[in-house]
Amino acid sequence: MKKTGNNLKIGLEVHVQITSLKTKLFCGCSSDYRGKEPNTLVCPVCLGLPGSLPVLNKRAVEYAVMAALALNCELSNRMLFFRKNYFYPDLPKNFQITQYDRAGGVPLAKNGYLYLEHGGERKKIRISRIHLEEDPGRLVHLGSIDHSPYTLVDYNRSGIALLEIVTAPDIRSPREARIFLQKLRSILEHLGIFDGSLEGSMRCDANISLAGGTRVEVKNISSFKEVERALSFEITRQKGLLEKGIQVKRETRHWDETRRVTISLRTKETEQDYRYFPEPDLVPVELNKEFIEQIRARMPELPDERLERFVSQYGLPKYDAGVLVSSKALADFFEEAVKLYDKPKEISNWMMSDLLRYLYENNLELQESKITPRKLVEMIRLIDDGVISGKIAKRILPKVIVTGKDPSEIVKEEGMTKISDREFLEKLIAKIFAENPKAVKDALADEKAAHYLIGQLMKATQGKADPILSSRMIMKRLEMLRKSKEKD
Ligand code: ZN
Ligand code: MN
Repeated sequence: MKKTGNNLKIGLEVHVQITSLKTKLFCGCSSDYRGKEPNTLVCPVCLGLPGSLPVLNKRAVEYAVMAALALNCELSNRMLFFRKNYFYPDLPKNFQITQYDRAGGVPLAKNGYLYLEHGGERKKIRISRIHLEEDPGRLVHLGSIDHSPYTLVDYNRSGIALLEIVTAPDIRSPREARIFLQKLRSILEHLGIFDGSLEGSMRCDANISLAGGTRVEVKNISSFKEVERALSFEITRQKGLLEKGIQVKRETRHWDETRRVTISLRTKETEQDYRYFPEPDLVPVELNKEFIEQIRARMPELPDERLERFVSQYGLPKYDAGVLVSSKALADFFEEAVKLYDKPKEISNWMMSDLLRYLYENNLELQESKITPRKLVEMIRLIDDGVISGKIAKRILPKVIVTGKDPSEIVKEEGMTKISDREFLEKLIAKIFAENPKAVKDALADEKAAHYLIGQLMKATQGKADPILSSRMIMKRLEMLRKSKEKD
């Protein structure tokens, strides 16, 4: 989607699990639910059994305050919980304990912002509010949601602590939405409260409106990889309707990841439908200055500061530093590699080009690949020690990413060592000169044309000829030919 126009407005409602917590938001059940037998990490509280009472997880409040500070929000000094009532099988209590910004309620934080660097511009995206709430259970459909013959429910996820982060409608394109989520993820990962590589840990709903159109909400966008796709589809759909003169309906649509379309689920509920009221089982929480200042003092380095440091400490270009800090895993990988081998620019170049390209093309997270800082550094050392050429390294890197083997092992196994046997190269060069008389003539007239001959040698050795030695030998042979011609 290239041109989306200036009238496109996108607001995001992001749900982020506080994955660093060991337990749920209101009970002591383990929050480590992924891959566990369904409905085994549950208790009367997170199953909503009558008579059970929630107890607020203090650590969750600390983490939420951290996130609010990192996103430049104004913090409330008093925090209360509300009940949001609705009937759905993933919610055994028939209400979700959340926070509300009306009817006497206040969210944990509001009026924040973050900056995006995008297309050479710095752009401010406002954060309207942040609040804490509990995750509902997980519904599992067989195939697509509107064709599934049944629905399974797993309450292990019920009661997991969520941060809901709501932006103002400041986002102008699907691409920008993706960049926003990436930045948000990097910030939360730097805070140490969140791991975005876990399935379903960051989910997002999007409000989209086109010029004069109605607001449509798209739900169930399961990751920041999906957001660009889902929004692009929805914008195309709405444009198509508007062009035909059909009114866009105000509704909630579901992003169907399998079929890659949005489908109509229901017309949008209004706020009144939720019958919000204060949660009587939880007391209001005072967030006093001292508590907040203690947390502020513990704040770690955030991506923007880290970017500046990468520029000043390692001499990286700002753009490169920006790419590296866009993911905490990437930035950590880089710094670990530099600790092992003090060649920041080379390390960054290999990461920015070949490593990232491979991960992107194969839709892999760095954590899912088998390369480690030590293995990357070993490969760069092999180049610097003259064992392999850069060209061979480009062939080795994907193998390291996939197999996790040491680069030196791959070199040995596949006989990829650089060829620096003079006698062997001499013979090969003589052959290439004999087979390419025209190229030799050109090279005699203009030295730059010798590149073709070097290229032929590389081709004949599958890139294994020592590049420096080869070019020196070819130049020498040309020089000899020139001299013998002069004599003639
Ligand atoms: Zn529980
Ligand atoms: Mn929510």
